[in-house]
Order: sequence, then structure tokens, then C-alpha cells
Amino acid sequence: MYEKERNEIVEFGKKLITDRLTTGTSGNISIYDAEKKLMLISPSGIGYFETKPEDIVVMDLDGNIVEGDKKPSSEHGLHAAMYKAKPNARAAVHTHSMYCTVLSVLHEPIRAAHYVVADAGSVMVPCADYRTYGTMELANEAVRAMGEADAVLLANHGMIAVGKSLKSAYGLASGMEYCAEVYYRAICTNKTVNILPDDEMRRVIEKFKGYGQVKKP
Ligand code: 13P
Ligand code: ZN
Repeated sequence: MYEKERNEIVEFGKKLITDRLTTGTSGNISIYDAEKKLMLISPSGIGYFETKPEDIVVMDLDGNIVEGDKKPSSEHGLHAAMYKAKPNARAAVHTHSMYCTVLSVLHEPIRAAHYVVADAGSVMVPCADYRTYGTMELANEAVRAMGEADAVLLANHGMIAVGKSLKSAYGLASGMEYCAEVYYRAICTNKTVNILPDDEMRRVIEKFKGYGQVKKP
């Protein structure tokens, strides 16, 4: 079951390491089958280059394992909470990427120092309050804090991003790491950091809907 999706999770897991978006076994990846209401998620604590397609765990959104002999990611509740809260989400990527994590330690959102923050569908990427990793308290707090955004920082921990595909969720996780780095480096100069106003960000959010090679009907 789900050969294509399993391979995709394995490939994007390796990319997390080679793109330096996470280290060791931190972070996790899932894909959601909305029709069957099943989620495929990376296994807990297995290195991304050691993970095999058969190690991916199939679960329902109540935390029950449907297929797989590995322990699922400790953040399966966080991923499930994303799919319950975000009807269009079909994949989620959680990372401990450096600059998102630095801002999360400061309990600081990714403010719109760069317009690409609008890719998250919001005027900023909020920072959820600290909760212990792998708990439903963390899952609930992440959903509360993210509101309309497709990404959220997790205080003293990292970030999670969702998308309509794994490629899109991964792209958002990578883009928000870029925005976090730009914002953090700008703060470090001690000069005034010019944050784009909300009305401009709303304009960019709309404009992004037509960005790139938008398919004609
Ligand atoms: P897992 O290896 O269990 O997915 O945990 C990594 C992590 O980032 C926990 O927050
Ligand atoms: Zn984590």
C-alpha cells in the first residue's frame, strides 16, 4: 500500500539533511490521504538515510497504527492535528532548522522582513508557546497559534509547515527558514528592521495565488 508516497517520504527525508534543514533524527514528515483519512508518517528515531519505504507507518488521525511494524514519529499527534485543522493540507514537514529554531527560542514570530513570508498565507509566521515534544498539548497549542497560517514556530523546538503536496510543504519549510535567517540577521545589525505592513502582505498573499506557471483551466 502507498508505494509512491512511502518513496516520497524517504526521498524528502534525505533532502532535509542534505539541504541542512534538520540534523540527526530530528524532524519528521507525513502525507495525508484525505479520502481514506489515513496518514503516512516517518518512523521515530531512524536516520533519514537509513529509513526504508517499509519503515513508514500508516495511521488514522486518532493515533491508531493501520500498517507498519515501526514505532511512528513521536509527533504523529501534531501531524494529525494539522490535518484536522487544515482541510487542504495533504502533507506536513516538521524541522529543527537553525534560524526558525533561533527565533523560536526567542519566542519571536517570523515577521515580514521579507515578502516571501506571505507564502505561509499570513502576514507573519506565529510562534506557539512551549509545550513538551510529542504531546497533544504541543499539537493543540500549535494549531491554536498558527491560526490562518500554513506554518508555525514551536517555542524552544523548531517549526512545522503544511501544504497541498509534500513538495509544497517542504518548499514552505525551506522558504520560511530563509525568511527566518534574513529576519534574524537583520535584527543582529541593531539597525531598524523594516517590517512590511499587513496591507502590503495581504496584497502579496493574493498575488502569490497567480505566481509562476499557473495552469490555465
Ligand atoms: P521522531 O524521531 O520521533 O520523529 O522525533 C523527532 C522530533 O523532532 C520530535 O519533535
Ligand atoms: Zn521536533
